[in-house]
Amino acid sequence: MTHINDNFLRLSQNYLFTEVARRVQTYQARHPEADIIRLGIGDVTQPLCPAVVEAMHRAVDEMARKETFRGYGPEHGYEFLRRAIVEHDYAPLGVRLELDEVFINDGAKSDTGNIGDILGRDNLVCMTDPIYPVYMDANIMAGREVVSLPCTADNDFVPDLPGQPVDIIYLCYPNNPTGTTISRQELTRWVEYALANDALILYDAAYEAYIRDADVPHSIYEVPGAKRCAIEFRSYSKTAGFTGVRCGYTIVPRELEARTSTGERVGLNALWNRRQCTKFNGTSYIQQRAAEAIYSPEGRKQVEATIDYYLTNADIMRTSLRDLGFQVCGGRNAPYLWVQTPRGLSSWQFFDALLQGPHIVGTPGVGFGRCGEGYLRLTAFGDRADCLQAMQRLALNS
Ligand code: PLP
Repeated sequence: MTHINDNFLRLSQNYLFTEVARRVQTYQARHPEADIIRLGIGDVTQPLCPAVVEAMHRAVDEMARKETFRGYGPEHGYEFLRRAIVEHDYAPLGVRLELDEVFINDGAKSDTGNIGDILGRDNLVCMTDPIYPVYMDANIMAGREVVSLPCTADNDFVPDLPGQPVDIIYLCYPNNPTGTTISRQELTRWVEYALANDALILYDAAYEAYIRDADVPHSIYEVPGAKRCAIEFRSYSKTAGFTGVRCGYTIVPRELEARTSTGERVGLNALWNRRQCTKFNGTSYIQQRAAEAIYSPEGRKQVEATIDYYLTNADIMRTSLRDLGFQVCGGRNAPYLWVQTPRGLSSWQFFDALLQGPHIVGTPGVGFGRCGEGYLRLTAFGDRADCLQAMQRLALNS
């Protein structure tokens, strides 16, 4: 008889957002009149910017004509987009990348999980707690052991270096869910640790477009030596509202190496290329033209305006919540606010209280890990009117 991958049975039963949706639906069914404001799930609400829409229309027209129709694209992604990334996302940071170090994908979620295909099962993985659940679940599915680095108010949500030797380190900055950022000095400490311990850092920079302060690094490759120890993931989802369009990219530097089971060093760029050529057939031409459009002067301005809109939401929420006496972190250089629950309520108790009282939906912090207990994540991706209304309701409720 067929065997399943038993590791799937080790995953927690309820996917966080499914349980959130279930509770909201149940409440709404019982209280159809309740006007619920959703500040929970990390999806964007503002439409694609005009430069992107025009580029998509043009690409569709090309696909409609025999002379300009495109079939399968290159597995790495089209050169026009990889070149735009190298020139616009990295060159201004002083980071030089070759085109074949850039791999276009259908969003960061796939690759933050898929990258495990080229890494041995026996690697010891470490990640912060709380954490974006995909890293944890993908490694449980693969049967890897994971150690957690607590991020709590006690350490200002900045993880300590691992207390035992680890092989793979997931870092995500600006962070989902805590909304914290990492300083250049802290990031340097991680790069030095990885180089000294022959460890690999998987750096998720899905929210780098929200960084406004000049001293916060946008890329791990701003730190000398990082190309020898880090893979970086980026996404257009929150940068340009591509959660439904689907496009992102992964950087695997040529210098990056890891060991075979017999101790020889092997380049990860070639392995990842081999994996992608076998299992991935690319992201559509239309999506890639859409992504390219955000690097045009108009595209850049329009995308920035939307990010500013969300950052203003974050600022409004952060200020209002603090004025109401909540302990809040995040919300600067990041679209997430990490709110400590009042009166010692658990994450789910506070979730229910907000749903049933002011009819606001957040995401229970405990869903992101044990250390998230006692917190709730709010996102700044809502409409301005909803954000303002939510803060007014909270003020009336407190
Ligand atoms: N990484 C982080 C930290 C995220 O929060 C998300 C989405 O919420 C992703 C990656 C995945 O983004 P996408 O697959 O839409 O690019």
